[in-house]
Amino acid sequence: MVNTFSFACSACGQCCNSPPSMTLAELFAHRDLFIGCIAIGRVPRRRPGERLRAGSHEAVLDEADCTAFDAIAGTLLHRAGDNIFSITAQGFDYPSLARCPALADDGRCAIHLHGKPLTCEVVPLDPLVPDGLQNLVLAERGHSAVYLGSACIQEGERDNAALLFAQGRIVDAQARDALMRRRRALEQERVVWTQAVFEALRKDLFDSPAALARIPAGGFLTISIVPALLTLAQSSARCRELCIGYIDSQLALIERSIERALLRRRLDDRPVTQQLRGFANAYRHARAALADEVVSGFFGRSEIGLDDKPLY
Ligand code: SF4
Ligand code: SF4
Repeated sequence: MVNTFSFACSACGQCCNSPPSMTLAELFAHRDLFIGCIAIGRVPRRRPGERLRAGSHEAVLDEADCTAFDAIAGTLLHRAGDNIFSITAQGFDYPSLARCPALADDGRCAIHLHGKPLTCEVVPLDPLVPDGLQNLVLAERGHSAVYLGSACIQEGERDNAALLFAQGRIVDAQARDALMRRRRALEQERVVWTQAVFEALRKDLFDSPAALARIPAGGFLTISIVPALLTLAQSSARCRELCIGYIDSQLALIERSIERALLRRRLDDRPVTQQLRGFANAYRHARAALADEVVSGFFGRSEIGLDDKPLY
């Protein structure tokens, strides 16, 4: 089994098929381009002896692997009982468009030189997987539909591609650096807002089996980003002002997005439009609370997407 991978991105745009995961600061920087949301996912707990497979690649996890997974969970993720969750800010758009809003018509990233999200720099690696097991990520992604046509991930050493992973480690210095910066950014997000939002939603979501059932297997539950904004707004008057400005931009962006969807007249867009209207309601209530400086404890369950209405 070859355990060496090379990578060469031709900027074909094929993997830019949805808005990326972003930090809150990145969403603020691109407030007129990306509709922000919170994406909540389950992350499996790893045990020694567990076999992880990706194509012809396999690893049997040892104590050191599990310690590495635990270290990532302890700094970047959130635990409730035996469950581990990821909470990230993310761009949100109609899945029917199957593209990131920053993808230009020539297939290039329109913000490549102006604040491309860190998560896009990390592609095709996964910051939630220990470095020594990134070969499994590469093996899986190399055969996934998203990357397959582009052939950007290749097993073995290639003349026309940078060596990315060999001898159990990431050998490309730029890739290592991007991974480190993304992990630091996630750690910072935890300090700034994700841990606070996790605690605030603990009773209604993370400790509720019925609510947890709404997190799709291998996918994410997307809710309004308002709880993150209200957490941030409590830090200072300046942050509160910034949140109000962000909300105004987002309300205008949501309106434009819904207008275009109505012109497309697609049935599968309807639940997404419904969710966007929920986001807009949450923004309007949050804006009023922020303007009145009444921000603590404001989490409207229905408005942020934790009521019983369908979200997808
Ligand atoms: S699919 Fe591969 S080649 Fe195309 S943009 Fe993504 S990483 Fe680059
Ligand atoms: S921000 Fe740019 S690189 Fe990232 S998914 Fe969108 S188009 Fe692709």
